[in-house]
Amino acid sequence: MLADRMKNLTPYVPGEQPQDRKYIKLNTNENPFPPSPEISDHLKAYDLENLRLYSDPNSTKLCSIIAEKYGISKDQVITGNGSDEILSFCFYAFFDSNKGDLLFPEFSYSFYPVYCDFYQIQYRKIPLDNDYSINLNNYNENSCGVIFPNPNAPTGILISIEKIRDFLDSYPKNKVVVIDEAYIDFGGESCVSLINEYKNIVVTRTFSKSFSLAGLRLGFAMGDKDLISALYAVKDSFNSYPVDALAQNIGEIALKDSKYYDKITEKIVRIRDNFSSKLEESGWKVLPSSANFIFAEKKGMSGEEVYKSMKDNGILVRYFNINGLEKFVRITIGTEEEMDLFLNIDAEL
Ligand SMILES: *Cc1c(COP(=O)(O)O)cnc(C)c1O
Repeated sequence: MLADRMKNLTPYVPGEQPQDRKYIKLNTNENPFPPSPEISDHLKAYDLENLRLYSDPNSTKLCSIIAEKYGISKDQVITGNGSDEILSFCFYAFFDSNKGDLLFPEFSYSFYPVYCDFYQIQYRKIPLDNDYSINLNNYNENSCGVIFPNPNAPTGILISIEKIRDFLDSYPKNKVVVIDEAYIDFGGESCVSLINEYKNIVVTRTFSKSFSLAGLRLGFAMGDKDLISALYAVKDSFNSYPVDALAQNIGEIALKDSKYYDKITEKIVRIRDNFSSKLEESGWKVLPSSANFIFAEKKGMSGEEVYKSMKDNGILVRYFNINGLEKFVRITIGTEEEMDLFLNIDAEL
């Protein structure tokens, strides 16, 4: 009954969103603080006429605001239904196994191999260094392109923009490098400043993490206008209206309220750094994070054991059943109270 191509699918498994009881969710990197209060004012006064009509297929106003914020032009921006959708457009538009394998880090966002299977792109996973950082010197072998998150997930480790620049100088200019900046607001320097200089890079962003709008499903990509217009061609061959009218309005409001978002982002960074020090004091090994989560191992317990004990106590974290990562758990940074509760439970384990 099914098409043969269904055999190639290995769907992504998202973190649990349990509906059975209330957990403290430190497992999917959601923001613990609410979205901008200006969004709530907007929704209360929302004109339903906006929903009667189709949404602007190209999110024109939202793209202008993004362009202004990041100092680029409107034709260097495209929005999508979450950055996952934008990433899938990138895989379709840029990566082609006839020209070599796609390269990405061995331990990285687990959606990348899923898209490769979906679009039948061959890939090679490049090992991390011993300290779990990405070493871009290892990405110069023959390939059809490169993709990596910066900071990387699930490690949280950042690559400096200087190192990325060095890599781009040595990498073929006719192959695309996608930099997935889902977590860049939590402590890294964005590569968006490089897109006019390097016509072969695309930077992807999401409203799900630093903008606290995971449920809205909104993301965007920035890059040279030729690459962005290729992404529009993919979008319009698939779904002309991926971003609904409400999501466009809310995205516009969120981007303008940088005062609020700077404040909650700084708070998360502060809680993260405190929490990491306290874990280290009690014997955990914590990788240096520039994201809104940490990747850490508790002495004497596997990631799965920590996960189970925490779940019994009402806290969800994420562990990875992957060779080489068994010892770790990924813990999203929540409120101060939530992290204190985690530390109290941990002290009893
Ligand atoms: C969360 C995440 C995304 C996806 O973001 P959405 O906009 O919610 O689809 C993309 N890349 C990485 C590395 C992420 O962690």
